[in-house]
Amino acid sequence: MAKAATKQEDLSKYASGAFQTVIDKCEGCGRIVEVEANKFCQTFTVPSAKWRLGFCNFATHAKPEIVAAAVKINPLKASKRAAAKSKK
Ligand code: SF4
Repeated sequence: MAKAATKQEDLSKYASGAFQTVIDKCEGCGRIVEVEANKFCQTFTVPSAKWRLGFCNFATHAKPEIVAAAVKINPLKASKRAAAKSKK
């Protein structure tokens, strides 16, 4: 019984006005809660701020691509290595 009351209190915090609705980039995230036909983030009060500098770090539906840096090869050492391999 007490747990149900707590859940109701949790939902009312979204309607208090402190929480802003999610933005379109949040669509599909597992942290969205729907209260009275509005969607809110249960983690952040201002979801648009989390996307301002790139991906939201708490998003469950989208992750940034990690780009591997190209390895610099010294052409002198590479030719020596190739020459040593061909001798074998
Ligand atoms: S965790 Fe991030 S992506 Fe998910 S709803 Fe909240 S702000 Fe949007």
